[in-house]
Amino acid sequence: MALFKPKEILNIYTDFDGEKYLKDGFKAILLDVDNTIAIPDTGTCDEKAEAFINNLKSLGFKVVIFSNNNTSRVKMFIRDLDVDYYSFALKPLPFSYLNIAKKLNVKPSEIIVMGDQLLTDILGANLSGCYGIYCKKLQEKDSTWTSINRKIENIIWRFIK
Ligand SMILES: [Mg+2]
Repeated sequence: MALFKPKEILNIYTDFDGEKYLKDGFKAILLDVDNTIAIPDTGTCDEKAEAFINNLKSLGFKVVIFSNNNTSRVKMFIRDLDVDYYSFALKPLPFSYLNIAKKLNVKPSEIIVMGDQLLTDILGANLSGCYGIYCKKLQEKDSTWTSINRKIENIIWRFIK
């Protein structure tokens, strides 16, 4: 069960204090999209998410939008935002996390992963040696596939809380 356990839990992604993590030596941030920083499947990058991402970049973080969703969905989210992305990430498989670490030339231990799912975002972070921060989902309703994961996740929470 330890593999499902996030290092930290946030009520919402905007609670993330970038400067603190910069001091701790983190260099990159992988951001999940659906129900972490956008409404699942349809949400575009609103002003709040845009300001958040731009702030992380201006602090000096390497930021990657990191989603299991398809490329057209991720591009719909990014719109004209200037940020790297990685779609079809196959989270929780560690290989995409490690791939990004290599590309960015940072160690997995220097990477923060923010996401709303234990079974994908956080498990993958733990498997690859990244620092997983669980963000509570933005809205109650999940996509169909995620709602299956969510049932399993609710059972896991009982063990790791
Ligand atoms: Mg998500």
